[in-house]
Amino acid sequence: MNDNFIIPAQRIVGLPVNGSEASFPVRRIYCVGRNYAAHAREMGFDPEREPPFFFCKPNDAESVVPVPAGASVALPYPPRTENYHYEIELVVAIGKTGRDIAPEDAAGHIFGYAVGLDMTRRDLQMRMREQGRPWEIGKAFDYSAPIGPITRVADCGLLEAGAIALSVDGKTVQSSDLAKLIWNVSETIAQLSTLFELRPGDLIMTGTPEGVGAVRPGQRMVGTVDGLTPIEVEVL
Ligand code: MN
Repeated sequence: MNDNFIIPAQRIVGLPVNGSEASFPVRRIYCVGRNYAAHAREMGFDPEREPPFFFCKPNDAESVVPVPAGASVALPYPPRTENYHYEIELVVAIGKTGRDIAPEDAAGHIFGYAVGLDMTRRDLQMRMREQGRPWEIGKAFDYSAPIGPITRVADCGLLEAGAIALSVDGKTVQSSDLAKLIWNVSETIAQLSTLFELRPGDLIMTGTPEGVGAVRPGQRMVGTVDGLTPIEVEVL
């Protein structure tokens, strides 16, 4: 390994870990599409139990926005969109390498969980979707992944049910339960690990419930999942 880089190397993003001075180094960010039936319906799909599908977000310091506990973090409004959407999601942090993981073994690969937002330029995503093109310009832009502190599974237990919600300026806009995931976390890890070897540092954004919508500059979002540290962000 030659660390004598000819231009400055990008730094690894660390997410705070509750109860530790050390942070969680972000490797890859996998996202699950349409994983709550009511959200699949609002996006114009019949939520049959088809295999989950995945997309990715970048892991660099300009894409991931760590949101420390108790802080309100500014989120720059992205360019080229008139329809900048929130998607509140449970984020799973992977702590152990594995491929072709059986659902019953998946829990052993979970380091912990966090609350995250899969911010989306919905107009661009829809345009790409209609044309059968990749979603990157709608999903993988700068500051598109605000994520809160990680709670270790040893501290919160396995999260298989519990409220997940988002408010905008104090008004609840998304409200559901983790039990309504079409593919639960273990099944998602199992499926994803047939496609990619999962490694410590990987994050999985598990999908958003119904109620997605647009935010404008000046609006404040608060995302919660029962048992985890809430996140607060304000759109600039
Ligand atoms: Mn999403």
